Amino acid sequence: MSEETGLKDQLEQLVRLQEIDNRLVILKGEMARIPERIETARRFMVETQSQLAQNHAEGETCNQRKREKERDLETCEERLSKARNRQNEIKTNKEYQAHLQEIEAFKVEKGRVEEELLALMERLDLYKRKETELAQTVKAAEQKFESEQQQLEKQSEALKAEGGGVEKEREVIVPAVDPKLLKMYQKIKSLHRAWAVVPIRHGICGGCHMNIPPQMITEVRARQRILTCSQCQRILYWPSSVEPPAAINEAGSPQAPAASS
Ligand SMILES: [Zn+2]
Repeated sequence: MSEETGLKDQLEQLVRLQEIDNRLVILKGEMARIPERIETARRFMVETQSQLAQNHAEGETCNQRKREKERDLETCEERLSKARNRQNEIKTNKEYQAHLQEIEAFKVEKGRVEEELLALMERLDLYKRKETELAQTVKAAEQKFESEQQQLEKQSEALKAEGGGVEKEREVIVPAVDPKLLKMYQKIKSLHRAWAVVPIRHGICGGCHMNIPPQMITEVRARQRILTCSQCQRILYWPSSVEPPAAINEAGSPQAPAASS
């Protein structure tokens, strides 16, 4: 194996290792967000359930007050009826006037209780209608949560499976990379996070976008030794005709390598 082939192979392994490491960052980030996403879906469901429970409790209180009012009305009717029955016991005109006043007062009282009862019945009706609506909302929210939870759990399983496969590939690649080169990669990666190995494209560094001197480009293309960008210190490679897939930025989302500050 010539030196050029050996170095080309080493750089290709390193680029693949970088892809793997960046993919692992994305996978770990997505996995870490799943419990939170499940919790968000659950929170909406719990909110609607508590609205339903609160409406039900308020409706119950209203119903209790309605029953009390019904008893009040019965009392009013009894009083009125007893007063009317006392008519035969009246002997004087004065007593008669007092009797009429008493009956009138009881009638007013009864009318007031009837109005209050009607208002309570109307309110109770509103609570019942709202309960029907809320029960439907809760049912929909419960179904939505259940399907979202299942979907997220499936997604979590898929992420775990992919992570496992990628980890295995990493275990094979790491021993195949020259230890010195690996150490260099890890050191640069610790500084630049996602990008330690970058391609030269259109004469510029794929990491910091600075121009690379033509002599250095020739050397990188020749693959006789490892060269780093004098500006950002990243390892440079000459890309093959097949473009490598986009990797990630430091936050973990896929994008092209950013210029170094
Ligand atoms: Zn650079």
